[in-house]
Amino acid sequence: MAQHIPASVESVPKDLRNLRACLLCSMVKTIEQFEFDGCDNCEEYLGMKNNRDMVYDCTSSNFDGFIGLMGPEDSWVAKWQRISRMSKGVYAVSVSGKLPSGIIRELKSQGIAYKSRDTSTN
Ligand SMILES: [Zn+2]
Repeated sequence: MAQHIPASVESVPKDLRNLRACLLCSMVKTIEQFEFDGCDNCEEYLGMKNNRDMVYDCTSSNFDGFIGLMGPEDSWVAKWQRISRMSKGVYAVSVSGKLPSGIIRELKSQGIAYKSRDTSTN
């Protein structure tokens, strides 16, 4: 399923086991990548680096579809997913699950409008 994703892209999942999608930006990586690097887009807000509990809270293993994001600035995919100006990488089309309410409040206080990527409920 990942055969259309060029190997040159940074932050491409290293294997297809333990994949999770960020609940805030939909970026897909392995648990280990989230724990080691945090989320490329959301690390400053979510602080997942070296914090496996946060990785479990802020990512979901239940997601659908892959989008490879190569040139975020002018990508129609990015516009479609409303993820312009985000890091190159692999993103999920939809992610099931929700950020914990405490984290959503925290984001709000920093001016980040969280919109659930869970297309099954809205
Ligand atoms: Zn993220």
